Amino acid sequence: MEQTDIKSMTLAELRAELISQGEKAFRADQLYQWMHKKLAENVFSMTNLPKAFREWLEKEYEYIALEIVEVQRSKLDGTCKYLFRLPDGHVIESVLMRYHHGNSVCISSQAGCRMGCRFCASTIGGLERNLKPSEMLEQIYRIQCDSGERVSNVVVMGTGEPLDNYDNLVRFIRLLSNEKGLHISQRSITVSTCGIVPGIRKLADEELAVTLALSLHAVSQEKRRELMPIANRYELGEVLDACGYYFHKTGRRLTFEYSLVAGVNDSREDAKALAALAGPLHAHVNLIPVNPVTERNFVQPGEKIIDNFKKNLEKYGINATLRREMGRDIDGACGQLRRKYLRNPAEPK
Ligand code: SAH
Repeated sequence: MEQTDIKSMTLAELRAELISQGEKAFRADQLYQWMHKKLAENVFSMTNLPKAFREWLEKEYEYIALEIVEVQRSKLDGTCKYLFRLPDGHVIESVLMRYHHGNSVCISSQAGCRMGCRFCASTIGGLERNLKPSEMLEQIYRIQCDSGERVSNVVVMGTGEPLDNYDNLVRFIRLLSNEKGLHISQRSITVSTCGIVPGIRKLADEELAVTLALSLHAVSQEKRRELMPIANRYELGEVLDACGYYFHKTGRRLTFEYSLVAGVNDSREDAKALAALAGPLHAHVNLIPVNPVTERNFVQPGEKIIDNFKKNLEKYGINATLRREMGRDIDGACGQLRRKYLRNPAEPK
């Protein structure tokens, strides 16, 4: 029988569970604190809990903790890439980025992905499985413990489509922002989606204050369909309407992610059309020169074209940033450490 994953439970659920097992409610509070504040790696390190209670927990419940397989540390900018092994053997990756305003962690929401975006390494092997809330939290917990530095921002922009794992995502956000846990402000959490319309609308109604990032990448339905199969399911117009709904419902400014691909979506007309889409939604545009992926053959535009594209957006009053490439000297971009590992598990240390 599958055991209950206690790290994915809310404090109220944990109290009810322990009470139903004849334990005192305060044990749940202690346990919750060990898991989500002290970031205990196992139940045996929970030193103020009776030994018999710890042994019982170990026997009866699943305690999720991720194993670090490999850490790559960039000498250029302090970015660290983590390869983790899940309890069932799947591997996922996460990235720690150090900015002057604090440390940001980019987490995976699924092992693999079934969205099929043409330029993306994470989708090559398809979807393996959804991550549990505890497995999303653990990426942050282990990174905070390993680095010894506080994580202040979380972006759900690693492998996977978070809105394809909706319930676990929302539970993860509530646990991560809970004041009895790491207490990361919802405003410091960003969820990135390829544009699953019902998910965007549902998230808007959750009364959360997280930032939504839409992976737009193209300004017309036709062009978007060439890059992202999800566009066959949801028309660009519908996606933008859902984004408008999110903005009006939450008051949170959206981000449009736009991967610049040479000769595909980097023209002056593209910039103008992008500005026309972003303007009414007050969306911020994040430009990402496409990261070369071993299995893919998309190429970044030259520096000048990238620079002009950004200037064009600004000319139309759009707030645009160029995502600084971090960790170029390590397998820094988008699912590549995991890909490398899956191609040859013996390769990393
Ligand atoms: N599934 C979600 C989140 C994961 S991808 C989404 O689609 O938003 C995070 C971001 O990286 C997305 O904007 C995605 O389109 C982008 N991305 C993926 N592969 C890339 C590559 N090779 N170069 C640049 N951006 C890439």
